[in-house]
Amino acid sequence: MDNVMLMGLIGQIAVYIVVFIFGICIGSFLNVCIFRLPAGESLTKKNSHCMTCGAEIKRYDLIPIISWLFVLKGKCRSCGEKISGRYPLVEFLNGILYVFVFMKFDMFSTGAMLPILTCLFISTLIVIGFEDYDTQEMTVGVLIVMAVINVIAAVLALPQINVIRWGMVSLKESLIGAAAISVPFLLIGFVLTPLFALFTDEDRSAARKLRKRLKELNSVSVKDKREIQKVETELARVEAEIKEQPPVFGFGMGDVVLMAAAGIYLGWKRSIVAAGAGILIGAVYGLIQKKRSSESQFAFGPWLAIGIAIAIFFGNEIVDWYSKLLTFPITEMTA
Ligand SMILES: [Zn+2]
Repeated sequence: MDNVMLMGLIGQIAVYIVVFIFGICIGSFLNVCIFRLPAGESLTKKNSHCMTCGAEIKRYDLIPIISWLFVLKGKCRSCGEKISGRYPLVEFLNGILYVFVFMKFDMFSTGAMLPILTCLFISTLIVIGFEDYDTQEMTVGVLIVMAVINVIAAVLALPQINVIRWGMVSLKESLIGAAAISVPFLLIGFVLTPLFALFTDEDRSAARKLRKRLKELNSVSVKDKREIQKVETELARVEAEIKEQPPVFGFGMGDVVLMAAAGIYLGWKRSIVAAGAGILIGAVYGLIQKKRSSESQFAFGPWLAIGIAIAIFFGNEIVDWYSKLLTFPITEMTA
């Protein structure tokens, strides 16, 4: 290896180290977002506190990863209670994914903006994924930020034909990408699933019958008060049971908006990869979890976020591989 190559390699490693450190610092802020946004707390107001004793965490104990690993050793300085390993995990995840982004993009051909926007996209994905995992909800503001980042990336990619090679898509593909998965999710989650539940759920059909009976009882001139009360009590019981039911397996509004926002960046082909991978991983997790607990609340967000990350890094390769898989027998026949 000659000196020029060696210098180039050292320079590249130096860039990755800087990107990693930057990534874990942003990751530290993502932790704050993940814990405070669902609770509706301010992101800037007060300093971080211990979840157990409430003691303020000193500034020198807030160095990403290092504080948790070597200084605090996973324990609070004042009460000694465990501090979740989630914090260093999120920091590390954000840092290493930033490095992967800068490895994937050739900054010298794409400029710095596209890798930076891709990094920010990934950070919003991390927040959404963990938020949805914890609370089964996504903060609308984060989804909007994600969409704005991806619109800027799509517009920036426009005049650069060569960036399509780095996984960016044309504006037309961006527009189709925004709808490719979000619209089917919308139909499944808000039309098909409720319709299915309406016709198959016993409680719901029982409630319908009781309401009809109540109407009949009320429409006659001589009202049977005791019967009416009996039906009303029964109806209240069934309605309470319906309320207690876990949400029907399907996609929520958060999933729809997430796939629309991500689709702008991914285009329709990689959006399909993202949804396919996410649903597959989510289904496997769901099956494993079903065996362990009876809790049937299921959030798709974390798994869609993983699917989207897979699509960002390997989407084009998967699309290429799949289209070759499909065309292989045809080319063989014609050869
Ligand atoms: Zn404490």
